[in-house]
Amino acid sequence: MVYLNGEFMPIAEAKISVMDRGFLFGDGVYEVIPVYSRRPFRLPEHLRRLGSSLAGIRLDNPHTAEEWTALMGKIIAGADSDDQQVYLQVTRGSDSKRNHAFPALVRPTVFIMSEPLLAPSAELCAQGVSAVSAADFRWMRCNLKSVSLLANCLLRQLAVDAGCTETVLLRDGFLSEGSSSNIFAVKQGVLLAPQKNHLMLPGITYDVVLELAAAHGLKYEVRDVLEEEVRQADELWLSSSTKEVQPIVTLDGRTIGGGRPGPLFAAMFGWYQEFKQVVMRGG
Ligand code: PMP
Repeated sequence: MVYLNGEFMPIAEAKISVMDRGFLFGDGVYEVIPVYSRRPFRLPEHLRRLGSSLAGIRLDNPHTAEEWTALMGKIIAGADSDDQQVYLQVTRGSDSKRNHAFPALVRPTVFIMSEPLLAPSAELCAQGVSAVSAADFRWMRCNLKSVSLLANCLLRQLAVDAGCTETVLLRDGFLSEGSSSNIFAVKQGVLLAPQKNHLMLPGITYDVVLELAAAHGLKYEVRDVLEEEVRQADELWLSSSTKEVQPIVTLDGRTIGGGRPGPLFAAMFGWYQEFKQVVMRGG
């Protein structure tokens, strides 16, 4: 069951117009909310980020936080899995003609669906993943969670073509993020996190990683991270709501930290799993 514009229906029955601006222009924003044991994790934070994305593209939020919570609650209750990833999307709706300018009367398209959430396996996290790097050629509003993801798709495909998991994006000699994740580096026992700005998505999992670091006394610095610091890192991690935290052990075919997940990753992995069990699942 999915939600589309006021109705719940089977996904095969959910149809939108070919004139939808999400289809024609990528004119919309989205969120992916992880759900553990049927509890959405940090929903208020996800809804706040949705609000910022909507404000950033000058589209009124079609629902209050209470309404979003109720709609999501129905989708979560109707899905099979206890652990889910809820996808929600709002576009600027359709117009009678294809026209870049906003429609005079905007009736947004609102879509919500749920898919099962599969946590990365302990084996994957013990082994690590590989990545390639690429110049970040996206636009200057990467803080908005826009459905215009063509650049992210092209960049991710570079990783796929190389048999890798993620593409680490570098802009003007600095780390921005991954094609669909945030990236952290570790050097000499210090966790380095790029500061949130218009060049990266403010990840909800990124916040969790820094909170766990602070709670457990792991030193971290939030600042511009140089490309050299990425390439010469002792450890490199990626984070996202669906991927949790994973260690990157090769970058462009060269090993990071000897090609094995490092000790700080092992600690963070443990803290994250404990946090998931105790806080995300609510005990
Ligand atoms: N950066 C990008 C470009 C992303 O698409 C995502 C989410 N998939 C993230 C970072 C991570 O954000 P979050 O932790 O909120 O999932």
